[in-house]
Parts: sequence; structure tokens; C-alpha cells
Amino acid sequence: MKQATRTLLRQYNLRITQSRSLVLQAMLSTKTPLTHKEIHRKILKTDGSISLVTVYRILEAYENIGLVHRHLSTGSFILCSLQGEKGHHVMLSCQDCGTVAECIDKDFCKHEDRIAKSAGFSPKAHLSELIGICSSCS
Ligand SMILES: [Zn+2]
Ligand SMILES: [Zn+2]
Ligand SMILES: [Zn+2]
Repeated sequence: MKQATRTLLRQYNLRITQSRSLVLQAMLSTKTPLTHKEIHRKILKTDGSISLVTVYRILEAYENIGLVHRHLSTGSFILCSLQGEKGHHVMLSCQDCGTVAECIDKDFCKHEDRIAKSAGFSPKAHLSELIGICSSCS
């Protein structure tokens, strides 16, 4: 098991299990969103034995704590690259190469929270996506 996965799981107070680290490991090496099936296939290739259902459950749990985002335009999963940072996470999706970068803005959320509050809504997470062309493709 690689050090990076251990560190991440510890950061999120998650018990380090073989399955959890296999899922993380599969996602650490990519900058494009993957479906749970693609993640499962990657894990099987690296000789891990894990069921598809387990992969999906782990991804859902990761999503709930903000370690993983559901990529909005594809519904696939991508590791949050600004782990633990509070604020508005914006995914920058490149239409050409498919990479997803992330940036963050804290003040943006204050404004959104005011809008939400006036509608009687309590936001739990801030996430959005911009679709366009990344700096290496433009
Ligand atoms: Zn994020
Ligand atoms: Zn690109
Ligand atoms: Zn926000």
C-alpha cells in the first residue's frame, strides 16, 4: 500500500482497509473521471480482488465526506484535489483531453449561502463545474 493512500485515509479518520486503499490507489493515478466499473476494472488488473458493489459503496462513502466528487457532467467519480479545504469546489473540465482540475473559492459560498437561506435551504456541500478548454489544450 502506498504512503499517499494511508495519509489520505488517516486525514479523513477512516480505518485503513485493503478495499478502501485499492479504490483510492486506482483514483490517485488519474486526472480524468472514472465510472465505478472502470475503477473496478483497474483494481482487478492490479491483482486486487474486490466486488463491484464494494467499489460503489466505498465511492459513495468517499463522496459523502468530500474525498471524492461525482463529476457533474458525466456522473463518474474523481478524487477531490483540494481535500479538506472548505469553500466552493469548482471542477474545471476540459472538453478536449478530459482532464478535470479543481479550484476553490471561499467568498463565492457566502453569497450562495445567502441565496439558499432566503429559500429556506441548508446547503451541505458546494460544488460546481465549468466546461471548457484547459491551458495545455488551448
Ligand atoms: Zn474538491
Ligand atoms: Zn485539455
Ligand atoms: Zn459555494
